[in-house]
Parts: sequence; structure tokens; C-alpha cells
Amino acid sequence: MWRGLAVLVGCAAGLLMVWSTTGFEQELPDKGFVLRLEEPATAADRDVHRFLRNWQIADFVLADLNAYVDLPHRVMVVARSCAGEGTAYDPSERRIDLCYEDLVEEREAFERAESWLQDEDLADLTRETLYHEAGHALRDALDLPDAGARAEEDAADRFAQLMLLRGHPEGEDTLLTAARAYDLAAAADPTPDPADEHAPPATRAESHRCAVHGDAAPTRHRNLATPARAHCAGTWAATREAWTRDLTPLLRR
Ligand SMILES: [Zn+2]
Repeated sequence: MWRGLAVLVGCAAGLLMVWSTTGFEQELPDKGFVLRLEEPATAADRDVHRFLRNWQIADFVLADLNAYVDLPHRVMVVARSCAGEGTAYDPSERRIDLCYEDLVEEREAFERAESWLQDEDLADLTRETLYHEAGHALRDALDLPDAGARAEEDAADRFAQLMLLRGHPEGEDTLLTAARAYDLAAAADPTPDPADEHAPPATRAESHRCAVHGDAAPTRHRNLATPARAHCAGTWAATREAWTRDLTPLLRR
């Protein structure tokens, strides 16, 4: 693995020969989530690129996904400078773009709130984002019925919860960091954009906290225990069962 192109091989079947931007011949698997870190376009992006490379955040997320599900095709996960486009899954290309700019913006949002974002926190936000986008890619791979844009986004959030709470104690903290980021977004812009297909940030924050509380109660995160969250254990169980059922054709175990 070298700087120009980080490739994570999730499965050994059917390798495709490709040429990278730096001219080295690489082999890409034809199935699974496959990572490419592109060179950054700006100094700010360079910082995030270096962070992703050194911490290998996406590498570990993709290894986790590929160990859990047997994707029938390749989904490229491309970390890059996006020049205005945002982080998203593109079904026509079967590609997830992880935009360096979005991570730079997360840092700036925390700085504006004078709540400095540590590298550990940025790692958490990156993980949550990647699992969310992988949720879109998996719904596409499973050809699940279209229940509308908002339902699609909610399902992707719940997939991130599933992956982060499934056997990873540190996933609770990852979701709580993401909830803090949504809190900041809600505080910065208290009037949610009605055209945004995502739930309002405050709703997304509560969804994550509810999942953590539902999964951990009553032993951990006692500060999350409120009467309003009495339903969370049931909600979390329903989330886990629904996603696990949908994923059945692709589950490795
Ligand atoms: Zn989404």
C-alpha cells in the first residue's frame, strides 16, 4: 500500500487489473467495498487526507463491512476533494464519495462552537459517515423497495447504528460524537431545510442517542436514561431485526 492509492482487498475472487493515477498497476477485487484515497486539491484537504491515511479510518470500516457482508459487486469508496459536491453514494456508478471538504467543515463547525474537535472525534465522524453511505449502497445492492427519500436516509442512519453497535463497545462513543455534531448543526441552523431529504439534525442526534441507550441500558451511559427514551430498547431491537432481516441474502455469518 502506498500513498497514491490505498486498496483494501475484501475478497479474493476475480481480480481486475487497473492503472492508478500514479501509474502503478493495481489489482482491484470485483466484489466488496474497495477504497481509493485520491490526492487532495487544497492545503486544507491535504490535512484531512493525511489524517485518513495515517489513521486508516476508512480501511478499518471497509474491512469491517467486507467481513460482515458479501457484496455481489464492487463499490468504490473514493476519498477525494469533491469541489462542491458532497459526500454521497452514487447508485449509477456504485461509488461512495467521501469528500475531504466535508471533514474540514466538521472541524470548522466544532471550532466555531469552541468545542475543539480532536482527531479521535474526527475519526468517529468519518466512521459514522462511511457506515451511513454504505447503508445506501447495501439498500441498492439488496434492491429494497423505495419508500421515499426520507425513509432511505433514516434507514442509512440506522445501518450506521447497526454496524457501530454490533460487537464494538467503542461504537457507542462514535455514535455519541456524531450526535454532538448533529447538535452543533441544529444550533447553527435552527430552521431545518424542508428540501433536505435527511431528518432534521436534532432528530438524527436523538436517533443515535436512543440507539445507544437502547443497546446499552441499563448498564452504560446512565446520563442517557430519560423517561422520553423508555421506548429506545424496543426501537433499537426493531432496528437491528429489520436490518439483519434485509441483509440476510448478503450476510457472511
Ligand atoms: Zn444519506
